[in-house]
Amino acid sequence: MITTVTLNAAIDKTYSVKSFEMDRVSRVTDMIAVPGGKGINVARVARLLGEPVTAAGFVAGFNGQFIRSGLDTEGISHDFTEVPGESRLCLTVLDADNGTQTELLEPGPVIAENSLLTLKEKVKELAGRSTHVCFSGSLPLGCPPSLYAELITLAREAGAEAVLDASGDALAAGLEAMPLLIKPNEHEIVRLLGRPASSDDDLAACIRELMQRGIRHVVVSLGARGALAGSSGRVRRVAIPAIRAVNPVGSGDAMVAGMVTALRQGRSDADVVRFGAACGSANALQKQAGVVTDEDVERIFRDITVTDY
Ligand code: ATP
Repeated sequence: MITTVTLNAAIDKTYSVKSFEMDRVSRVTDMIAVPGGKGINVARVARLLGEPVTAAGFVAGFNGQFIRSGLDTEGISHDFTEVPGESRLCLTVLDADNGTQTELLEPGPVIAENSLLTLKEKVKELAGRSTHVCFSGSLPLGCPPSLYAELITLAREAGAEAVLDASGDALAAGLEAMPLLIKPNEHEIVRLLGRPASSDDDLAACIRELMQRGIRHVVVSLGARGALAGSSGRVRRVAIPAIRAVNPVGSGDAMVAGMVTALRQGRSDADVVRFGAACGSANALQKQAGVVTDEDVERIFRDITVTDY
């Protein structure tokens, strides 16, 4: 199976509001609340693609119960570590009239040392039953920046390949453990290497540098521009068709789910990124983050070209 690890799981709540204004009362016309966090989005897409998947990480309090029961409703297996406090609520206020999207993100629980030990045991156990473990998203308060590196090492020792989709210090430290695949976006790779990348040539140089450090797949997603993907020493351009994007939030997570699915199926390096990009674009066609349909993925996949850069 695939295991996804979401250390700062959330309830993603979206309010639709007419003419949202600061310092005024606004009436909510539509509301959706779903389990969220990047790893949970990966799990949702992997399940929609037909893969066996278990979502893990930390949950806390009433919000944690909501996350678990929401995953039950969606038929997504989960095995979370319960911690004191309250899982975070991430609130998005959509104003269709003004076309604005305002986000309020809670910090989530503070993780204590004993909870970290429990999580490490859990990751070891799940990795022993997994081909791939995907680590996605930010580290909650209380977690050392080295946590992803430790978890990646544990997963590999238990027999699973590790995928890392993080940013900032968590990504930089996580690289030390040599995950199989990383999927930074443009901003994340620039921050990681600490130098500007003003052209695709610069990005390709960054990808080559990271591959030389020993990371086999370095996929830089470029939103509507597709991706530049490095695998086994070669850099490729992934050109995607134009689509009418509805909501691209979570497209990176869908891309990770697609790439892991394709790796499990033993597809070629070029088809791994092609399928990943198709899932990312298919996600952008849906209102909810982390949702794709097989029809969209298949159709977009056929229109994607992957060429040597
Ligand atoms: P997130 O953090 O929201 O998950 P990300 O920044 O990690 O996203 P993106 O680069 O936005 O990831 O998107 C990943 C992939 O999804 C892209 O490589 C592309 O294939 C697809 N995609 C994203 N946005 C669009 C869009 N507007 N139109 C078409 N495809 C898109």
